[in-house]
Amino acid sequence: MKFVNPAASVFFTDRQTLEGVTDLCIAAHQDDIEIMAYAPIAACYDSGTRDFCGVVVTDGAGSPRSGEYKDYTDEQMKEVRITEQQKAARLGRYRAVAQLGYPSSAVKDGKNPDPVEDIYRLLTEIKPRYLYTHNIADKHDTHVAVALRTIAAVRRMPKELRPERVIGLEVWRGLDWMCDTDKLCLDTGAYPELATELLQVHRSQVEGGKRYDLAAVGRRYANATFFASHNTDSMSSLSFGIDLMPLVETDITPRGFIAEYISRFAAEVDGAIERLS
Ligand SMILES: [Zn+2]
Repeated sequence: MKFVNPAASVFFTDRQTLEGVTDLCIAAHQDDIEIMAYAPIAACYDSGTRDFCGVVVTDGAGSPRSGEYKDYTDEQMKEVRITEQQKAARLGRYRAVAQLGYPSSAVKDGKNPDPVEDIYRLLTEIKPRYLYTHNIADKHDTHVAVALRTIAAVRRMPKELRPERVIGLEVWRGLDWMCDTDKLCLDTGAYPELATELLQVHRSQVEGGKRYDLAAVGRRYANATFFASHNTDSMSSLSFGIDLMPLVETDITPRGFIAEYISRFAAEVDGAIERLS
């Protein structure tokens, strides 16, 4: 595949083709895929009909570093993080992982057309059935930027080639705040050891004291436990998602789109307090 950014590359774990990939996750950083998209990774893991592919948009240069990585240069950190992401792809049996190699600043610059163009090229090459990215209420600017660039790229696709589903997922801010009726519930209960190992592969991050391996898995258990609905009785672990299809199918703005969810949440909290006062 030809990308605008010369630093971009695709790593295949086995078969050297993107044909047949059904589930595509577009994430900001190395490890975000394993934090937010475990449900589709697990669904594709042993499936004869679905195949997973990950995309990491940034280059990992700005990664936090401590312990044995403390004195690593940005260039060394990029190498470490690219390799860790490739290990995760092999372990999780992804078809491939594309690393687009953009500095965070380029992704956050809404006037830079290149990240959207490279995401668009991947989308039109793969034509995934299911697309996952960050939710646009995440508190990390680069995550929000990647979600916005992804939505812009999907909007550019001819209607008949667009994914059937586009879902925003949880990393730096869960979606527990959403009204229960607005939440999509994705089952993350399969292969519990794999769920943890995929996070521990990102050794440069986890060993620095940020226990993403415990936190991400713990959030999934908390989501399932504190979600009081009969239809999830069978799920012991789940990720919440937000349905981003209206952003693709209508011309609603991202700001207007998320404001509706936030106002429903505000009304629910306010209503309970009013009722009980
Ligand atoms: Zn991230």
